[in-house]
Amino acid sequence: MDFDLTPDQRSIRDAARQFAEAELGDRIAPYDERHEFPHEIVRKLGDLGFLGAVVSPDYGGAGLDYVSYALVVSELCRGDASVGITMWAHNSLCTNHIALNASEEQKRKYLPPLTSGQVLGAWGLTEPGSGSDAAALRTRAELRGDHWVLNGSKAFITNASVGKTAVVMARTEPVEGGRGVSAFILEQGMPGFTAGKPYRKLGLHASDTAELVFEDARVPVENLIGTRGTGFQQAKSVLEGGRIAMSAMGVGIAEAAIDQAKKYMKQRTAFGRTLAEFNGLQGMIADLATGLEAARLLMLRAAYLKDSGKPAMHAAAMAKVFSSEIAMKAATQALQIHGGAGYITEFPIERIFRDAKLTEIGEGTSEIQRLVIARELLQSV
Ligand SMILES: Cc1cc2nc3c(=O)[nH]c(=O)nc-3n(C[C@H](O)[C@H](O)[C@H](O)COP(=O)(O)OP(=O)(O)OC[C@H]3O[C@@H](n4cnc5c(N)ncnc54)[C@H](O)[C@@H]3O)c2cc1C
Repeated sequence: MDFDLTPDQRSIRDAARQFAEAELGDRIAPYDERHEFPHEIVRKLGDLGFLGAVVSPDYGGAGLDYVSYALVVSELCRGDASVGITMWAHNSLCTNHIALNASEEQKRKYLPPLTSGQVLGAWGLTEPGSGSDAAALRTRAELRGDHWVLNGSKAFITNASVGKTAVVMARTEPVEGGRGVSAFILEQGMPGFTAGKPYRKLGLHASDTAELVFEDARVPVENLIGTRGTGFQQAKSVLEGGRIAMSAMGVGIAEAAIDQAKKYMKQRTAFGRTLAEFNGLQGMIADLATGLEAARLLMLRAAYLKDSGKPAMHAAAMAKVFSSEIAMKAATQALQIHGGAGYITEFPIERIFRDAKLTEIGEGTSEIQRLVIARELLQSV
């Protein structure tokens, strides 16, 4: 067994780390305070090829393997999780859905602007009435002549108001559950298709999350992805990669929290010693670092399985649930190590703590990941 990264994987990880150190961290704090989307910084991700990370170079992508991609996501999220989620939702959800499932003509039309970063992408599965139970979605698409007409809405969609291209799941067949769902490509400016005002969120203030609204939205017939009724299957295949990316987000956030805890422990004194000299806090940071390494290995294993073309859903769920819970634990304990200083906005740990919570909710909550894991375990009993 080889635990070493290849030279290419190391160099792409280092490029992401350098970018995060130069452009994110403290530099993003003002955007977070103002709840402002950092357009300039996100544009630079396109210049680095990070907005077409896993797409083939035939469509302008960087053609990275999943191990490299997970390393990039974790480094960006270590710098700032808002920029991280903007990047990976664009890649793993919208762009990858098109790359995996669309026709050649659709790929030629929609992928190059996405992979170059000329436009950002959003992906709409969740609705106000259905999140974990995603197959219960109620947005309807009706075929009328040469157009589909969509009615309904999507909730909590990353890049919804800054994105120009969206992949959206809607019910086309008169049957309950996933079998009645199809997937469509929508563009901002199509009649009847709008994005709502961005939500005010607990964390990830510099990322864009909003509703997508369809009021007799007219979508050309050729924008159906794949065949009718396969949209939910397509979405499930997209979620496998999305969960690997979310586990990378957890790894990056946990690492950022530990970075901050280590820094503070060396500078803060109490009872004539630095915090770093207290056994209780040493044990805390040692446990966090051990949990982080375990999370990283689960993330890399899931990415490796995906790169090998083997089923990765089970491994992705394990990586996602473990990494997100380590992120939350590391953020909570790192904040505790800061004492009162952790509770004010002057120190980055406050932002990291708020951002960490999303990892336990997005891409399927921790409870849903456990259901996915248990279902597969119990099938073989
Ligand atoms: C910042 C942010 C960004 C997001 N980005 C996107 C995006 O880009 N695209 C997209 O489609 N969605 C996105 N989401 C939505 C996200 O995927 C959902 O919020 C998530 O899947 C949970 O769904 P829900 O919020 O409806 O919670 P619910 O499904 O209502 O769940 C509520 C609670 O019940 C629990 N629960 C539900 N069912 C079960 C069960 N069977 N067993 C045990 N417990 C259960 C859940 O774990 C949770 O604790 C985003 C959400 C946020 C907050």
